[in-house]
Amino acid sequence: MLETPLALNNPELRRLMRLCKLEHTFVHGDGVWLTDEDGRRYLDAYAQYGAVALGHAAPEVAAAVRAALDARVPAMVQPYLAAEAEALGEALAAVAPGHPRRCVFASSGAEAVEAALKLVRARTGRSLVLAATGAYHGKTLGALALTGREHAEGFGPLVPGVDHVPFGDADALEARLARAPGPIAALFLEPIQGEGGVIVPPPGYLARVRELCSRHGVALVLDEIQTGLGRTGRLFACEHEGVTPDVLLIGKGLGGGLFPLAACLVADDWWDERFALGHSSTFANNNVAAAVGGAVLRALAGEGNTPGLVARAAARGERLGAGLRRLAARYPRVVADARGRGLLWALQLRPADEAQGLLLGYLQHQGLYAYAAAAVLAEQSSVLALPTLGSDNVLRIAPPLVVSDEEIDLIVDGIESMCGKLARNPCETIVRNMGWLRDPDQHDAGAEARTNRPPPTPAPMPAPRMGARGEHRRWAFLVHYTRPEDVWVTEPGLARLSDAELASYCAHVGELPAGLCLRTAVLRSPTGAEADGLIIALPLLAEEMMRRGRRAMAPAIARAVDLAIGLGADVVGLGGFTAPLSGRGAAVTGRGAPITTGNALTAAAAFEAARAEASARGLAITDARVAVLGARGSVGALMARLVARERPRQLVLVGSPHGDPAPLAALARDLAALGVNVAATADATQVAGCELVLSATGAARPVLDALPLAAGTIVCDVARPHDAGPVVRGRADLTVIDGGLIALPDRLLTFGPGNLQGLPPGIALACLSETILHALEGTRADFGVGDDVPVEHADRALAICRRHGFQVAPPGAVRLGGERAQGGGAR
Ligand code: PLP
Repeated sequence: MLETPLALNNPELRRLMRLCKLEHTFVHGDGVWLTDEDGRRYLDAYAQYGAVALGHAAPEVAAAVRAALDARVPAMVQPYLAAEAEALGEALAAVAPGHPRRCVFASSGAEAVEAALKLVRARTGRSLVLAATGAYHGKTLGALALTGREHAEGFGPLVPGVDHVPFGDADALEARLARAPGPIAALFLEPIQGEGGVIVPPPGYLARVRELCSRHGVALVLDEIQTGLGRTGRLFACEHEGVTPDVLLIGKGLGGGLFPLAACLVADDWWDERFALGHSSTFANNNVAAAVGGAVLRALAGEGNTPGLVARAAARGERLGAGLRRLAARYPRVVADARGRGLLWALQLRPADEAQGLLLGYLQHQGLYAYAAAAVLAEQSSVLALPTLGSDNVLRIAPPLVVSDEEIDLIVDGIESMCGKLARNPCETIVRNMGWLRDPDQHDAGAEARTNRPPPTPAPMPAPRMGARGEHRRWAFLVHYTRPEDVWVTEPGLARLSDAELASYCAHVGELPAGLCLRTAVLRSPTGAEADGLIIALPLLAEEMMRRGRRAMAPAIARAVDLAIGLGADVVGLGGFTAPLSGRGAAVTGRGAPITTGNALTAAAAFEAARAEASARGLAITDARVAVLGARGSVGALMARLVARERPRQLVLVGSPHGDPAPLAALARDLAALGVNVAATADATQVAGCELVLSATGAARPVLDALPLAAGTIVCDVARPHDAGPVVRGRADLTVIDGGLIALPDRLLTFGPGNLQGLPPGIALACLSETILHALEGTRADFGVGDDVPVEHADRALAICRRHGFQVAPPGAVRLGGERAQGGGAR
């Protein structure tokens, strides 16, 4: 029985792996096969990032270790001469290009990189070194400085004196070498960028680089830690171009998949005594590890009539490459490219289409989509492949070099099955694979008993990543589901789910913090202002949010606001129930960006639409008896104030029979003081004699359906979920319009799949529109926050709306069939 030390061994990484359903505990390895604790076998096509070149439990490796141990070879005798390490140095010199006569052993690739960095500086007396953009040389601080910037974020300051040149561009290198400031010690380069996404440079590049480095007296340090030792079908990748480096770095497979062993091989000309006496490492020159290294070299070269693994890798690589290229041609919507050499291949997936759902967009922005795809491959086809570290959408296919033709076919078939599933329905495939369609309460009791682990809890989502936003401003809008069926609007790929599966999905995502995050297109105002946006979903149903209540929800909403601000939002809008559950925004202000409930524009737009509809039907507000349902709410109260300004014949304020009557009475007094004929009541049947009914309750059910509306009444429904249900909407003697909708200047713009509420393109909820408008406007203060929004805010919201080319959607522009609301509406 294995205890997984979840709390000790990088729990954050474990959580990510669990999220993507990549949590495996392997207990047995043999060749290209790994067996997990349930006895399930997987074909290992990632080989611990290429380190398991000879396969798991390789017999040559075991024999070398046994022989060394049986002979009592002392593993660690530094600084005395380590005979096996010497022998391995000799063996490497014999096969490496240029036969480098000097060698430093190390316990990791990064350590070999550090040694090379010190060496070239000591040898030349120059501190400046060059590396390529997109490079990966390891994660110690010196190696990180050479590695691309993304991996270094947050760990600075890095080792200074490193400049980057574009990878694969010999002209750029030539220009850089010719340019001041002068003398450069070395260029560090991978012949094929592995972690960067298996990027193969153009033919002739490496040879020109060699020539340029020689011409400028710059050391060429080739990092073959990933590409070396047969991986690309030659012993070293530089041999494909006949290039000899000055310093050659190898690692990974050298230790036989058993020992951490790397080496920095140095040509005589570039050796340096000061470095030799100044550099050491306790675990270097391990005799037993070196004996394994020797066995690895022999297996790679082959013995007698037995061809070596390098030749096999070349042949198997042809087969793998042909298979992957075939898949790229067959599944162009899933695969963007297949490239590689030997047994180092990349399957570059097309970015998940965020138009296909919030979840896919989220996974893509997290850099998790390829992990989710890898999980599908593992679960459905028992093939293990993982993304490269530096490129979000690249699955690296790099099996142990001992892989057979049949096993290559199994890998390709497995990937084909994954591609087919992702082509048909990526969202359902991934969600089903992650186990989110199973009842979260029915955890795997067997696994629990086996490991003594607590039942699995859903892994929290990591914070989304957001790209730089350039010159424009950014808004964020918080949304949630209002009905389980809303999932079908935001995740059209889940349309086939059964009710039970849908409920299970909602329960799973409901455990996640806000994070499902959709990036929207840049919107341009006629003023020239530009804004892009983020829709951030609390993946909860409205009822669930109400059940949890304000005490539980306000901190969750605050976290979502912080997330939005962390992602660069200049203004945060509160959609749906996030407004009432945060005291209409009051509980989440002062966190670094202005907050808007969007209530000002919602009320203003609804009133405008209602007035226009009334006027089209020959009814002036001054002659009308107008009712406002939900007049105690923020939108309702503001609509009441807007109606009052027009001096209606009578204004009937209808509040909830369950609420405190005092605020409604206070509003009525306020309006009466302005000379308005106003009545306040908790009796909704009072709408009976009203010609115009503005409805903005937070009842979340069709309250209007039960009311005695007179024939000819105009109803403007602002509520989401709607107050007007099928009864009212089905009555031919009533006019029902949906208020609070805005026509955008870009008539084709949609916000995610289904445009959030299934609205037509170019139409958005007023509360979302107001959020966008404040971003375009550069508003710096909170807006429409609290229960009592001043009427001037409504005027100002409308003015901003017009300035930026937004319009109140004309009545009839939208006929909502149902109530698939997600953000917004009256609260
Ligand atoms: N250099 C290259 C090209 C690599 O691919 C890697 C690891 O993937 C390293 C250096 C770092 O090696 P290690 O992880 O053993 O430190």
